[in-house]
Order: sequence, then structure tokens, then C-alpha cells
Amino acid sequence: MSKRDFYDVLGVSKGASSDEIKKGYRKKAKELHPDRNSDNPEAESQFKEANEAYEILKDAEKKAAYDRFGHAAFEGGMGGGGQRPGQGYGGGDFSSAFSDVFDDLFGDFMGGQRGGGGRRAARGADLRYNLRITMEDAYSGLQKTINVPTAVACSDCDGNGAEGGAEPSTCPTCSGMGKVRAQQGFFTVERTCPTCSGLGQIIKNPCKSCGGQGRVERDRALNVNIPAGVETGTRIRLAGEGEAGMRGGPPGDLYIFVEVQAHELFERDGTNLYCRVPVSMSKAALGGAIEVPTIDGGRGRVQIPAGSQSGRQMRLRSKGMPALRGGGTGDMFIELAVETPVNLTSRQKELLKEFEDLSEDNNPESHSFFSSVKSFWDGMKG
Ligand SMILES: [Zn+2]
Ligand SMILES: [Zn+2]
Repeated sequence: MSKRDFYDVLGVSKGASSDEIKKGYRKKAKELHPDRNSDNPEAESQFKEANEAYEILKDAEKKAAYDRFGHAAFEGGMGGGGQRPGQGYGGGDFSSAFSDVFDDLFGDFMGGQRGGGGRRAARGADLRYNLRITMEDAYSGLQKTINVPTAVACSDCDGNGAEGGAEPSTCPTCSGMGKVRAQQGFFTVERTCPTCSGLGQIIKNPCKSCGGQGRVERDRALNVNIPAGVETGTRIRLAGEGEAGMRGGPPGDLYIFVEVQAHELFERDGTNLYCRVPVSMSKAALGGAIEVPTIDGGRGRVQIPAGSQSGRQMRLRSKGMPALRGGGTGDMFIELAVETPVNLTSRQKELLKEFEDLSEDNNPESHSFFSSVKSFWDGMKG
């Protein structure tokens, strides 16, 4: 099934402001909320969809990525998109990864609905790692070892938090539910159990190495594969490489946020590269071949037609950046910058003077400036 456009999902236009997006989302969320639509699977899936769309569009960075690449921007890079157990609404690949939008909109009110009543505090946090790379690396892709300060499962208690790995016992406060109910006005509100912090279990003798957390802080070296064609804003998800969960809970994910540094020669727009190349006045006038540097470290040859003006664009096919998910390579566009010669020798001056005399005597209208002025005046008269 192809995914719907996120703006359509929220019922707003493409150019909608963040306020309009928020309003659109609130409207949809109210309309489709599971409390109002019990036994309506269609509403439920639209609700998830709206949730997912808002998660992207409310964030300027993610929105920009979406505007540019559409849904492809968020399809799992290398990690693949496994569904995480124990996560109810917002189960889409991406939306569940970041703090759930419902926390800020509905707060505790939603508490009971979301996890299907299960315990959810145990999952490890997602981690973000900012990776700055050069444009050359973005062109070729790279393997890199990164060090991530994270929490890993404690080896002394096998991650369950009890001394010697003993089985934890059921929490007496919540009878293992991880939540307690309280009356608040008309609503029955579910809250995380204060005794077990939502884990549903307590430990009589906490493991000394991890203080009963089941995990310890550690620097982890991770080998990551950055595919060719990434650009600033690309996220790579490494499923299960985030923080270890509390007491044996499932781990979070690691997101690598790529930033590609600006290049001193090339400007990038999607898969195309742009480069300004200085050309001597005589070469621009007479035509000829020039050599230009290319992003792959080599050189390309471009034939300049005689009479080229500054600003003229030439294209070197397939010398741009690779597309992230296959689909070929962009082009490199060269913009000529004709240079006026300086520090002339007296002989050069002589020749240029002679050139100037010839130009004026013979054919003033061949000069593009004169001809454009002439046609401007002709136009005024006509
Ligand atoms: Zn331990
Ligand atoms: Zn409890």
C-alpha cells in the first residue's frame, strides 16, 4: 500500500505554517481518537497515520527532509524496520522512535490506552549520534567506527537487576501491572506505579554492579556503514543499538544524523553539483577545452564554445552525487567565470589595444553589449 501524503493526512496545504499543521493535527486527533471510535479499525489506522504525519511535520528538520524526499526520507536506512513489541499506537516505523506526540498533547489522559495496558517503561532510550562527514565521503559512502556512550545490559545480573541474577518478584503495589488507577474528576486516570516505576516487578537484593538497573554506562564502539549519497538531514537507524532497556527490557534504537560539510569547490543540490570555473578571457573568446576537478577526485574535460560569456553553464553528465537509494548519479554543472587579465606586460597591453581598435573600427555591433543596447533603443522607438 502506498503511503498517503503527510499534508493530506493532516488536511493542510503544502505550505502550511507550523501553527496550521498543529491545528490540523489536533482536529484529526480529536476526530479519530480511539476513545471516540472504539471498534473502528479504519479510524484507528487513520489515527496512527495522523500521528505519524504530525511527528514528522512538527519538526522543522524532519519536515524539510520530507519536503525534499517524501516518505523515502524516513524509510529505514540499514536497520530495517522491525515493529517493536509493546508499543501500541504510533506503531509506525518512525513515529514510535521519538517521544510520543501524545505525551505533550494528552498527557496522562492517554496513559492507559497506549501500551495496551502493558508495561512500557522498560524499553531503553533511543540515542542520537551526530555525524559530520565530507562531501567526498558522502559521494563514496564510508565505513566508520563510532564511539557511543550508552547503557548496556549488566553482565553480573544478566540485565535483570537482581543480585546474582535471582528472579525479581511481582510488585505488591500494582500486582505486576506497572500502573495504578486513581479517580480524578470524571476520569479514572492510570499512573505509572510509584513502587516499581512501571516495571511491575521489584527486586529484594539489587545487583551491586548496576544498582538494580540491569544496565551500566559504557562506551560502545559501533561499526556503521554510511551509504553513498547521504546528505545533511539523512538519518540512519540502527535498530536495537540504542540504550539497553531497564532490567532486561528491549533496547532502544540508535539514529545517526548525518551532516555533510560544505565543500570549497562544489555546491550541492540534491544529486547535482555546481561549480564555478575561472576561464581566461582569450579562451572564452576563442573556445577550447578546460579541465575541471570532479568530486570523485579525478578531472573532467569540458569543451568551451567560442564566444562564451561569464555565467554560461556547461554540463558534465554523471559527475554529480549518487542518489541515496540507487537511481543513478546526478550531473555536474559548470558555470564559467571569465576573468579579466591583470598585470599585463607591455606587449599584451599593445595587443589588447590593437584588439580594441579593431573591434571599434570594424564592427561595433558585434559586441553583445552594443547590440543589446541597440535593440533596447529600437524597441523603445517601435
Ligand atoms: Zn547488575
Ligand atoms: Zn508496581
